[in-house]
Amino acid sequence: MYDIAIIGSGPAGVSAALNAKILQKRFIWFSSGAVSEKVARAELIKNYPGLPDIKGGELAWTLKNHAESMGIEITERVVTGIYETGDKFSLTVGSDIFESKTVILCIGVQSVKPVRGEEQFLGRGVSYCATCDGFLYKGKTIAVLCTDKRFEHEVEYLCKLAHKAYVIPLYKYCQINMPNTEIIVDTPLEFAGDLKLKEVCFKNKKIEVDGAFVLRGAVSPATLVHGLQTEGGHIVVKRDCSTNINGIFAAGDCTGRPYQYAKAAGEGNIAVHSAVEFLDKK
Ligand SMILES: Cc1cc2nc3c(=O)[nH]c(=O)nc-3n(C[C@H](O)[C@H](O)[C@H](O)COP(=O)(O)OP(=O)(O)OC[C@H]3O[C@@H](n4cnc5c(N)ncnc54)[C@H](O)[C@@H]3O)c2cc1C
Repeated sequence: MYDIAIIGSGPAGVSAALNAKILQKRFIWFSSGAVSEKVARAELIKNYPGLPDIKGGELAWTLKNHAESMGIEITERVVTGIYETGDKFSLTVGSDIFESKTVILCIGVQSVKPVRGEEQFLGRGVSYCATCDGFLYKGKTIAVLCTDKRFEHEVEYLCKLAHKAYVIPLYKYCQINMPNTEIIVDTPLEFAGDLKLKEVCFKNKKIEVDGAFVLRGAVSPATLVHGLQTEGGHIVVKRDCSTNINGIFAAGDCTGRPYQYAKAAGEGNIAVHSAVEFLDKK
């Protein structure tokens, strides 16, 4: 059992991890990548205090090195669900479950909107987790929507299990090539069905499926944590970065504008101190 689970490797997550280490807490730090792509992608950053005119790639390297120099390890995995279980939280990561007394969400904002019906059919035909739910679709027909090349090994795993797999890559140069697989280069507009998912709809066609997997590096906050209060896609937080769920804190872009590195790092710091205060009171 961990004291704190931190999710996200942008400035908010790095700042939370550094401070959790300094405050000597038992913590685990998850992220879908070693450093947030949003940091690495910036051409030139002029507003990060102490690091004038730094390139995004350099800032990413500096953040990663800072954490490593303090002996902090990142677990490069996507968290697909967070559930309150008594006075702790269970985090679903692939087919593994991790337990923590508090959680700090530093998950940024998603640039990709969920497909219509995605959240409605989650658990009723739509899944975010190949290793947890893949076996449910052994010998069946599935669609696999994949946003990034780095998830191709999960796509292949699913294709091997399925009788027929429609792979929908939302990136260039998909290299999946398996006999039972059809690649669809088109944008899915809707997941449709009744009690269970039945179809994936595109502009000019529909495919019938038993299930669909959505493999992305991030999950929307309300889907990640059932009952989490959000407004306009942002997590509602108080000044101390606490959310409406006791023990869950949030920091960075996911709590709202301005979307800036310094604001994210500052909130990561606040969130970890609030989490520690929460643990001490307990
Ligand atoms: C091109 C570009 C240029 C920019 N330039 C500037 C600038 O000059 N100055 C400035 O102040 N800001 C700039 N920004 C904004 C800045 O990038 C963001 O404000 C900042 O990265 C937010 O940090 P964050 O930690 O909140 O989230 P992010 O950096 O978005 O990090 C979120 C992290 O969470 C991970 N994650 C999300 N969900 C999950 C999950 N379920 N499981 C595991 N991991 C998950 C993601 O993979 C990612 O690593 C720029 C942004 C872009 C895109």
